[in-house]
Amino acid sequence: MHPWLPVALLAATAAVNAPAPPPAAVPIAYVNERSADGHTTHEGEDVIVTGVANVGSDTFYTEVVKFFIEDDHSGVAVFSRGPQPLVKVGDIVRVRGTVTTYAGVVEVVPGRIEVLGRAGPPQPQRVRPSDLASYRHSGRLVQSEARVVDVTTRGRGTDTRLLAGREIVTLHITQKQQHGFPALEAGMAVTVNGIASSYILAGQTRVTWQILPRSTSDVVIIQKPPLFTRDDAARAAAAAAAIVLLIVVWNLSLRRRVRLETEGHRASETRFRVVADTAPSAIFIYQGTRFRYVNRATEEITGYSAAELVGLDFISIIDPAFRDLVRGRALARQRGEHVPPRYEARIVRKDGTKAWLDLTAGLIDFEGLPAALGTAFDITERKRAEEALQKSEERFRALIENASDALALLDPNGTVLWAGPSTRRVLGYEDHELVGRNGFELIHPDDQPHLRHLFAELLRAPRGDTRTFEYRARSKDGQWHWLEATASNLVDEPFIGGIVANYRDVSERKRTEEEIRYQALHDVLTGLPNRSLFQDRLELALAHARRSGKPLAVMFVDLDLFKLINDNLGHTVGDRMLQEVSARLRQCLRASDTVARVGGDEFTVVLEDLEAGESAPSVAEKILDELDKPFDIDGHRLHVTASIGVSLYPGDGDDADTLTRNADKAMYRAKELGRNTLQLFTPEMNERYRNRLAFEAGFRKALEREEFVVHFQPFVGASDERPVGVEALVRWNDPERGLVYPDDFIHAAEETRMIIPLGSWVLRTACAQVQQWREARLPPMQVSVNLSVRQFQQRDLIAMIDSVLEDTALDPSLLELEITESVAMQNVELTRAVLQQLRARRVRIAIDDFGAGQSSLIYLRQFPLNTIKIDRVFIRDVTANPGDAAIVSAIIRLAHDLGLVVVAEGVETSEQKEFLSSLGCDLLQGYYFSRPLPAEEVRARLMT
Ligand code: C2E
Ligand code: MG
Ligand code: MG
Repeated sequence: MHPWLPVALLAATAAVNAPAPPPAAVPIAYVNERSADGHTTHEGEDVIVTGVANVGSDTFYTEVVKFFIEDDHSGVAVFSRGPQPLVKVGDIVRVRGTVTTYAGVVEVVPGRIEVLGRAGPPQPQRVRPSDLASYRHSGRLVQSEARVVDVTTRGRGTDTRLLAGREIVTLHITQKQQHGFPALEAGMAVTVNGIASSYILAGQTRVTWQILPRSTSDVVIIQKPPLFTRDDAARAAAAAAAIVLLIVVWNLSLRRRVRLETEGHRASETRFRVVADTAPSAIFIYQGTRFRYVNRATEEITGYSAAELVGLDFISIIDPAFRDLVRGRALARQRGEHVPPRYEARIVRKDGTKAWLDLTAGLIDFEGLPAALGTAFDITERKRAEEALQKSEERFRALIENASDALALLDPNGTVLWAGPSTRRVLGYEDHELVGRNGFELIHPDDQPHLRHLFAELLRAPRGDTRTFEYRARSKDGQWHWLEATASNLVDEPFIGGIVANYRDVSERKRTEEEIRYQALHDVLTGLPNRSLFQDRLELALAHARRSGKPLAVMFVDLDLFKLINDNLGHTVGDRMLQEVSARLRQCLRASDTVARVGGDEFTVVLEDLEAGESAPSVAEKILDELDKPFDIDGHRLHVTASIGVSLYPGDGDDADTLTRNADKAMYRAKELGRNTLQLFTPEMNERYRNRLAFEAGFRKALEREEFVVHFQPFVGASDERPVGVEALVRWNDPERGLVYPDDFIHAAEETRMIIPLGSWVLRTACAQVQQWREARLPPMQVSVNLSVRQFQQRDLIAMIDSVLEDTALDPSLLELEITESVAMQNVELTRAVLQQLRARRVRIAIDDFGAGQSSLIYLRQFPLNTIKIDRVFIRDVTANPGDAAIVSAIIRLAHDLGLVVVAEGVETSEQKEFLSSLGCDLLQGYYFSRPLPAEEVRARLMT
């Protein structure tokens, strides 16, 4: 899953599970705010209201709870079917519930009813009869006079219609209450106490006003229906008495009323204060804009004391940013415009912090003057939560917009329900261009089956499961892009309801992977398959050959002496050469054949579908011919040859390993046979191979056991026969065979590359010996050491020579290295490069066995040479054969022209000595003077 997807989910669930803000504590008047049809405008709101119960919760019914609470302005019904605590008249009650209108009655259907304390029994408010038929006193305990119109007893109680002023109201006595009420008759005048309430009868639209008495004492008959007599006097007396009585009663009642009203007022104020001070909301009264009264919560919310607030202009505590709003409301109200009673504003508290308030204002009379009653709740927390939520939503949106991944929401059919804005960055589509399309339309046909399978699987998977996959999708500009997607099954997630896919472009990574894969299987330099791909291809080809029954050939192509080029002309030239060689190899093969580079200068080839296998050698010949042509590289004209070994399936092996190994053996045989040739594998090669291995092992052991010795053969000045130097010649002192001469092992040592450690050893031994003689104050001797072809190819030849010279402290000008013509001419450029490095060190160079090869002195002029050693074969018959004499004479003259020293090898007789001297030869070497001898013997001779 992508790292930030959980954030998205978290945000989504946070939105779902965020706790609903707690219901606001509101004054009862708030609950009673009604629309024209009599419904509360706050229908369905969860609120907290606090008031004094003006009726007990056990008054009207036994099966449900219905009672009324009131504060000084308003009253409301509380209706509940569930068990609730018993509420008695005069209890201070806090109700948390939902505002609803039922049959015209505004009710709070409580979740919770709490009795906070007692305020004492409420006093009924005397109202004008006609006020009974209005919402003004709805829910409150009122008192009024009225006259009975009629009485109807129904199943649910007794309804007595009363004429109150000019309005009809119903005195409703529930079934539970019925007993004990005075029997009422039409025409009676009554004083009724009770809760004023409205009601809409079933099937009617008109509101019926009703009074709900609390107990039998709430209905008092004040006048029976009038009795008529014929006695005028009695009538007059009665009238007079009535007038007197009326005056007295009026007087009394007036007094009582004043007392009652005073008491009532006082009680009412106490009640108001109790209610107001226990209310969690700020309740305050202001005239103009000055506070006249504030409750305790106002103090808490503003941080000011009541004493500080009363008289204070409330605008001054409004946050300056909201003052215009508040003033504007006040002005609008003054102009008589409708102003919504509820609004939100911020205040600055005494400590300077700011608080958000939810304010409600309504007009009241206060001490006979118009005033406003305000309530306010601190909603700072809620605002903060809202802001935090909004911020988190914004952050979430910003995340989505800026995410490097693109997001899409798909329905279970794959139709895009929503696409994130990053879509454009990834695929170039605007998000709306994708919505409604099926996501699969964009997917590469090759990737569809797999993807559809995964999609179906994900739909079956449990909620929240994810799948990650890679596929190609077409961008708007028609290109295929590799995408990596993680899809999550959030179909059952209520706020998501689909598959969420987040995806990114991984084309770059795919390309890199492809490249890495290619590089892992190909040779970087030539672009040919490498060994591991070759093996795969060979396995495949073999499997194919087994089925088809057609033969197959494996070729091992090894360039001859390629190292010379690399080491002496530099790798750039070597690399270019290998590239050219690769190209030529490819040219010789069919497209279906594989050619691989498996080592520095080693190539392998698989030839498939050979008819009877005869064509393999012809392909090999073609390769040899092709390579025979010169290469022009960086201004150098270079030659290279190859040795090729061929093995055939099924004859020479039936598995990849055996076939490759046998081709390799055949190639070695080709090398042994003088290179630039091809060899087909034969079973005897296995034999030779084993011998070779045995030789190598034995030779290595001989080196370790120091079975080799160096003998020295002096060479002398032609005129005075004084020794001027010695040639170091190696021998193998084999414990079984005795002293073995180099002709019997040098060739094998070269083929097995054993000549490299042996050559180093000889050089070191010879130099050390000569230096030792020098230190023993013998006349200074030059020392000649033979270098083989293989040594010449040795990468660290120069370093090795440097280290020998340094270790032995021999003067480099006393060292002469002998190379044969064939070595020298193998690669002219290369030879010159090596020789120049030696010349720079003052090491001398001699051409050994001169004349045996096909080179010419003129050609050799290109090398920095010091000495020419004329091959023994010319010396042997030099005195008898005029041809040989002519050759030797010519060599000597030419060499001298080039400033070279001439040595004659194999001088066995004094005639030869004399003749060569007469031709001007500088130095002579041969049995006539001395055989090669161990160091001690040479020393003895030199001392004499
Ligand atoms: P080379 O460098 O031409 O050495 C001269 C060879 O001629 C030596 O044979 C020597 O014994 C032989 N020789 C010298 N004077 C006479 C003579 O008057 N008559 C006849 N018939 N032979 C004479 P050796 O020691 O058997 O060496 C044979 C070849 O082996 C050498 O030919 C040289 O090419 C190679 N070789 C010897 N030692 C080494 C070595 O340490 N490293 C390398 N790479 N090759 C060596
Ligand atoms: Mg030699
Ligand atoms: Mg020689």
